[in-house]
Amino acid sequence: MNAGRRCIATTDMWHNAGRNVAIIGGGIGGLTAALAFARRDAHVTVYEQAPALSGIGAGLQITPNGARVLNRLGLTDALAATGVKAAAVVPMDALSGRQLARFDLGGQNPAYRFCHRAALIDLLGRACAANGVQVELGSRIAAFGPDGSFQTAAGRVKPDLTIGADGLHSVVRGQISKPAPAFFTGQVAWRAMIQLPDAEPIARIWMAPGRHVVTYPLSKGRLNIVAVQARSQWAQEGWHNPDDPGNLRAAFADTGWELKSILGAVEDVNLWGLFRHPVAAHWRAGSYAILGDAAHPTLPFLAQGANLAIEDAFVLARCCNENASLDVGLAAYQSVRRPRVVRAIAAANANAVNYHLSGMKRRVAHAGLRVMGRVAPDAFVNRLGWLYDHDVTA
Ligand SMILES: Cc1cc2nc3c(=O)[nH]c(=O)nc-3n(C[C@H](O)[C@H](O)[C@H](O)COP(=O)(O)OP(=O)(O)OC[C@H]3O[C@@H](n4cnc5c(N)ncnc54)[C@H](O)[C@@H]3O)c2cc1C
Repeated sequence: MNAGRRCIATTDMWHNAGRNVAIIGGGIGGLTAALAFARRDAHVTVYEQAPALSGIGAGLQITPNGARVLNRLGLTDALAATGVKAAAVVPMDALSGRQLARFDLGGQNPAYRFCHRAALIDLLGRACAANGVQVELGSRIAAFGPDGSFQTAAGRVKPDLTIGADGLHSVVRGQISKPAPAFFTGQVAWRAMIQLPDAEPIARIWMAPGRHVVTYPLSKGRLNIVAVQARSQWAQEGWHNPDDPGNLRAAFADTGWELKSILGAVEDVNLWGLFRHPVAAHWRAGSYAILGDAAHPTLPFLAQGANLAIEDAFVLARCCNENASLDVGLAAYQSVRRPRVVRAIAAANANAVNYHLSGMKRRVAHAGLRVMGRVAPDAFVNRLGWLYDHDVTA
């Protein structure tokens, strides 16, 4: 039996109970992992560099594959109360402002939802607290020993397992293999929110040559806006870099009136350079493992950054739970997760090309979308069945 099969096999022996698990990074992947381990009676401590599990960020899309995990971790009601249930995804010609097609999402089970990242962090944080997870805030981990120990504000610790859920610039990844530096993908994204009460619960993808905008509603009458532009100029990576809303409007000045009026209402905007590094070849070594962006940062064009991190977290906890040997469990985790993640990231990269077409290719693609929308409105979800229907909790 190979390592992957071992993870999938059911067993009545649960091995996480009593294990000391340290998680570096209290983002979405880290908190999901903390909850999954704690629910199997591991002693879990999360070390987060920020002073609070706070409300930074904007909208996220929780697709059915991610929602299945959150439901399995007991968050069904909290998630339903937090997110807006998506009805459809609607590709738009940004230049003419015309709708090209409408692909139904309303029949997804569990529901496809639009959430604010802060609300998701908040519900995960509360569930972690209720399950005995310790969270050390303001705790930036940087110094590791050769024996798997590391320095915290309270002293040196040596957990049974240390999980790097510490994002794009992961320090834990460097304990596993020589890290490849993150590279600029040649795309920047503006993120903003405006008040737009009663917006239809759909994700609209406004496509223009070399650019696109995704808009969808969040709770409390907010509309989330992510506007992407391909450009050679480097922009700083990170979630805290304000930009002049005039730059955003100028980048989409040739688009139709509706998109221009949405962007015209933006008062505050952050600009964010999209950086990646290749999917890590090794996701574990000794007592270390990595998940989410630490292992595989993705372009946000398939809305899978958070969902893949959530899936990783669940599979990692399960593989460790089902194996008395952490080494075997971690090997199983990598062999189960890596092929799926590679496929999802390739699909996100392909969208970067498809959304930004120009000239004849653009006209042909838009004609194809119009036909598909008329004859096969299920085409969008069917094409992504491998992604959305997958159940890592099965
Ligand atoms: C502040 C912030 C805001 C974001 N907002 C959005 C958004 O609006 N929409 C969206 O689609 N995606 C957003 N993302 C990205 C998205 O959350 C991730 O791509 C995805 O959820 C994968 O999550 P992750 O847990 O792997 O990494 P992340 O969510 O990036 O979490 C990593 C965590 O590790 C912490 N950390 C990093 N290094 C250390 C260290 N050395 N010691 C201790 N802690 C450390 C970070 O502070 C962070 O909390 C945001 C990420 C961050 C960090």
